[in-house]
Formats: sequence, C-alpha cells, structure tokens
Amino acid sequence: MSDPTPRPGILDIDPYIGGSHEVEGVDRVVVLSANESPLGPSPAAVRAYEAIAGDLHRYPEGGSEELRHAIAARFGCAAAQIVCGTGSDELIGLLIKAYAGPGDEVLHSRHGFMMYPISARSAGATPVSAPEANYTVDVDAMLAHVTPRTKLVFIANPNNPTGSYVSADELRRLRAGLPDQVLLVIDAAYAEYVSRNDYTAGIDLVEAGDNVVMTRTFSKIFGLAAVRLGWAYCPPAIADVLNRVRSPFNVTVAAQAAGVAALNDIGHTDRGREHNDCWLPWLTQELTALGLTVHPSVGNFVLVRFKDKDAADAAYAALMAEGFIARLMGGYGLPECLRITIGLEDEMRPLVAVLARHLESA
Ligand code: PMP
Repeated sequence: MSDPTPRPGILDIDPYIGGSHEVEGVDRVVVLSANESPLGPSPAAVRAYEAIAGDLHRYPEGGSEELRHAIAARFGCAAAQIVCGTGSDELIGLLIKAYAGPGDEVLHSRHGFMMYPISARSAGATPVSAPEANYTVDVDAMLAHVTPRTKLVFIANPNNPTGSYVSADELRRLRAGLPDQVLLVIDAAYAEYVSRNDYTAGIDLVEAGDNVVMTRTFSKIFGLAAVRLGWAYCPPAIADVLNRVRSPFNVTVAAQAAGVAALNDIGHTDRGREHNDCWLPWLTQELTALGLTVHPSVGNFVLVRFKDKDAADAAYAALMAEGFIARLMGGYGLPECLRITIGLEDEMRPLVAVLARHLESA
C-alpha cells in the first residue's frame, strides 16, 4: 500500500510566504512587507463592502458583469475581453494551467515575481529563468531562453521586487521576437504608480495581436488586497479559455461590490499616486544618504541592498525590534537586500531614523 502521491514537481514547490503583519511583543506595528496601500481602501469601497453583508447567502454573479464594465470604462478597454479573478495570482495560475503542462517551459526573468515558477511547477511545467541586466528584465536574454518548449513568457512591469521597468519599445521588441504560439503575459500589478512617458501597462499590446495578456490587481493602489481581486485583459480566444477554466463563482460578491466602488473613486487613487510620487523619491534619497544602495523604483516599494546577507538580516532585525516589518529577499535570490513598501509620512521618517541609528552602531 502506498500513500497518495502528488504529480511530479508539486513537492519541489517552495510555498509562497506572504509578508508578515505581526511582531511578537511590539504594540505598534508598521507593515511595509506586502506593497499594500498606505492610504487603505477608498471609503466608498468600504461602504459598498458593508452594504452586501445582508446578502451573504447569495452566490455572486459569476461573470463579474458590472465590475468588468466599470474596469473597461476606467481603463478604456473592451469589457468582453476582461476576465476577473481572485487576485491576479489566480489569473497567473489559470493562464499557466490552461497553456502549459508537463514538458512545457514557463519563462520569467531572474528576479521576477515568485508566483510564476510556483504556478508553473503546480501545473507540472518547468520554470526557466533568464538573467537580468542591472536588476532589470533583459529582453535579449529573455529571447535567448525561448525554446520550442516555451509556452508562456511572464514579465512583471514594473517588476516586484526590483522596482525596475522596461520601456514600451522594449516590450514591443520582446513581443515581436516571440513565436506566435508563445503567450506573453505582462503583469502590470503596479501600473497605476508609473507616470513615465515611455511606459505602457500593455493594453495596446493586448489589442495588437493574439498572444499577449495583461494582468492587473486591486491589491495595490486600490487598497483592496483583502478581498482578492484582479483582472486580465485578453485577446477574445484567451478570455474564452480563462472563462472555461476558472471556477464559476471565482470573484466574491464583496470583491465585486468593493471593486466597482473603488473604480469610481478616482480621487482616492490619485491621492495614492501623489503620496507615492512624494515618498518614493524621499525614501530613496534618505536611504542612499545612509550609504545604502537603493535600486531605482517606479513601484510603491524600494529594493535596498546592504553589504551582504548578514548586514541585511541585522537591519531587518533592528527594524523588527521597533515594529517595522520589511521583507527579506532570500527567496528571490537577493539575500543581501530588503524590500520596503512606501508607507505614511509618520512611518517613513521613523523608519529612516531607526535604520540610521542601527547603521551607526553596526
Ligand atoms: N504580480 C506582482 C508583480 C505582484 O507583486 C503581486 C502581489 N505581490 C501580484 C502579481 C499578485 O497580486 P494579487 O494576487 O494580490 O492581485
């Protein structure tokens, strides 16, 4: 008799460990580990969430119809080509499950978002990582790693955890260099924070062909990480595939209601962007002045490089002792780095003070 055995590859998965939200023995905790919005959710989204409480016995509307139309109106895209999901994590997983399996490869960049290799393995496919140039996706290296087995290519733009991005021209060059049967997934979870002229979230690339999908999330600037809501913008044939493989009620009533309200509160996301535009450069400058290497970021977080792993671990512990939770980066192959989310002013100033004291005494 033998025990039930998962498919090959499943036990090779290192489970994703989310940013922690608690520190033992510390009352005031400042969570800067998960790139959540420091401004919280839109009050309108909270009201919409509360308003559905009496209907908890009802199934959701399975097609997220109203939500898809609200997304389409806000972002200028076609509602029929949008598929909503339980966070963009679900959509990443469904795309891989639908388009790759044993013997197939899923390509991502060296420090790309960790759910790509995790989801590839859980589908029985093989994750392949291409080197980066200066902590940024290297389009030539990505193209050089495409093989006849490559089924999907993932690029997070901007990338988590490096904060770097590739230009619209570079994205188009990547797309043009891929065989037609390879699906390019542009994960634009942090798109709303980027205001560079040479950046595209990818809507134009989706509309220009049949093999590009863009994924987005409500977990970042919209401040709705708890309800788990993301969306994919797809060519019609790929939207059709996702609608076949997703579970019929994958987006909760709460997520749909909060999502629609959040989309209509433009002022809230404007404030989120303005806040980030102010405190991202401030934190970058202050940490650089402390002698740390801060990778230029266009997201709502910075990747900070220390002398070595021990120095990063010591800084992490010093921050933790004062209630500041940063994110260790060993899982991304960057053990000498910490990732720190942009928080409120009264979180950022004391954080820098704690690090300054720690580095002085180290
Ligand atoms: N993509 C990237 C690049 C991310 O950083 C994250 C969140 N950490 C996600 C996707 C997943 O976001 P969610 O599932 O909350 O939509």
